[in-house]
Amino acid sequence: MSNKRDYYEVLGLQKNATADDIKKAYRRLAKESHPDLHPNDKSAEARFKEINEANEVLSDPQKRAAYDQFGMDGPPNMGGFSGFGGFGGFDTIFDQLFGGAGARTQRRNAPMRGRDIQLNLRVSFEEAAFGASKSVEFQRAENCDTCRGTGGKDGSEPVTCATCQGTGQVRAGGGFMVTVRTCTTCGGSGQTVKDPCTTCHGSGRVRRKRTANFTIPQGADDGQVFVMSGQGEPGQNKGPNGDLLIVLSVMPHKLFRREGTTLYLEMPISITQAALGASLEVPTLKGKVNHRIPEGTQDGALFRIRGEGIHQLHGSSRGDLVVRVKVEIPKKLSEKQKQLLREFDEASSGKEYEGRKGFLDKVKELFQA
Ligand SMILES: [Zn+2]
Ligand SMILES: [Zn+2]
Repeated sequence: MSNKRDYYEVLGLQKNATADDIKKAYRRLAKESHPDLHPNDKSAEARFKEINEANEVLSDPQKRAAYDQFGMDGPPNMGGFSGFGGFGGFDTIFDQLFGGAGARTQRRNAPMRGRDIQLNLRVSFEEAAFGASKSVEFQRAENCDTCRGTGGKDGSEPVTCATCQGTGQVRAGGGFMVTVRTCTTCGGSGQTVKDPCTTCHGSGRVRRKRTANFTIPQGADDGQVFVMSGQGEPGQNKGPNGDLLIVLSVMPHKLFRREGTTLYLEMPISITQAALGASLEVPTLKGKVNHRIPEGTQDGALFRIRGEGIHQLHGSSRGDLVVRVKVEIPKKLSEKQKQLLREFDEASSGKEYEGRKGFLDKVKELFQA
């Protein structure tokens, strides 16, 4: 049997108090007996804890019903109310008093989702364009098998940290000058392990190397994030696992550049090919195609080769390859080549150069006026 005071009595309430009555009484009493207002007063601290514990039980409909039915000893074989270890303690009271701002908004035993793990995966231009199967290795914190994640030897449960009473924080000073720092005894977790598991040294977690098999879909692009649901770190208190996020980093290509599903290629051609027309051997991502350019092809001219671009991600269509012609003016000519070009020029009437002719005509008009 417990020698504790009745929870209703602690809050100064009757058994038929409403949820609102409990909340109001708790807020008022918790403020009055707050340890910051009574430094060095052990009895105030004890009273503050008592109020908090009473509220923990009475503000929870399930726990209140159990308390009403079984009294302070709790349901049979449950070790009594104060033995649950599940009542939030100081963090809860601070949240309720101060509106839950800041980091400590979650109850310690609330389910918490595991952390996401982000991996950067470098792939070649072609792998992104056509898809590929990849194996990626990564490190992940997992629950320790030896202690089943409790951190205690032989799976024993952790206990509330005596230094911080489970808050994970140590408060110093009084009144309005209160400083809060992370508890060094428990590292902020609010719990300590009496006899630590030797495998995980009490953390309950071990780092494991894992391999994820990942298929890059064709048409994937640089910076794209692929989510592998539930492959992140394990959740706590039955919370869901985090996700594994794979961020693609696509390496640049020597020749091609892409924008969405369109592939771009800049292709240098000779002045003779440009002037006479030519059948060009155009490289694609997977081979070569022939493309005929007409006589008089200009520098910067674009032509399009259908269906030689990038596959649409999760779709059936495929983009085009757009080729930009770059007419290269030859350098380091031999004397013979120079002679031939002079002869070519002498044989020119001027009409061969549309742009130049138009320009010269305009200059002529300007000075004749
Ligand atoms: Zn602590
Ligand atoms: Zn362990």
